[in-house]
Amino acid sequence: MNKVALTTQQYVDYLKCVAAKIAAEKDYITELDAATGDGDHWANMNTGFTKLVEIEAQLRTCSFADLFKKVAMTIMSGVGGSSGILYASAYLKASSAVAEREVLDAQGLLDVLDAQLQGIMQRGNSKPGFKTMIDPLYQAVEAMRSTIAEGEVQAVETMRQGAKQGMEATRDMEAVRGRACYQANKGVGHLDPGAVTMYYQLDLLGQAALNSVGKQEA
Ligand code: ADP
Ligand code: MG
Repeated sequence: MNKVALTTQQYVDYLKCVAAKIAAEKDYITELDAATGDGDHWANMNTGFTKLVEIEAQLRTCSFADLFKKVAMTIMSGVGGSSGILYASAYLKASSAVAEREVLDAQGLLDVLDAQLQGIMQRGNSKPGFKTMIDPLYQAVEAMRSTIAEGEVQAVETMRQGAKQGMEATRDMEAVRGRACYQANKGVGHLDPGAVTMYYQLDLLGQAALNSVGKQEA
């Protein structure tokens, strides 16, 4: 049974993995945002994920819809900067998209990621190619959508590759949104910090989804 079957408990475990990854990348992410922005992106993301870890016990009692809503509210109230409001919008849309689902298969995961993409694009008034966190998410969603008929594991693997390519592609882009667009060279030559932290999340989510394969009957 090569099926993804991500539970809410595994999703909370995943959020903790993201918190640990972000905490570990303090210098790198701060440097990236110092090059093209105001240097606070790591602090914003770290604050958000630290708050999520603090309410872990509460998150573990939730359905997916409530879990995503609580993540959105926690980020909204606790995180400054553009990324706070954009991630809150992403998780609010995800909460609606997940409806009554108790377990996410590959299609469920794709629906969640697509909802997050739409949420960020609407809230940020932005599109793929603008050198933002949208770029890895967009490529992840497109890669997953185009391979999902070939099998769930394949779709998750290509999702992770798409995320990486989308993140790497921001290096050569001229920024249209975010602080990098106020720079003379529009940030060309630098990765977008928001794209890098989005990539971490997508990569770890893919890993969590792959770990869930075959466990549903255990
Ligand atoms: P701020 O830019 O307010 O200091 P952060 O430093 O936390 O906020 O986040 C910056 C990141 O947010 C950027 O690297 C970019 O990926 C993303 N971002 C900024 N504005 C937008 C937007 N309008 N749409 C999508 N993403 C955006
Ligand atoms: Mg910033």
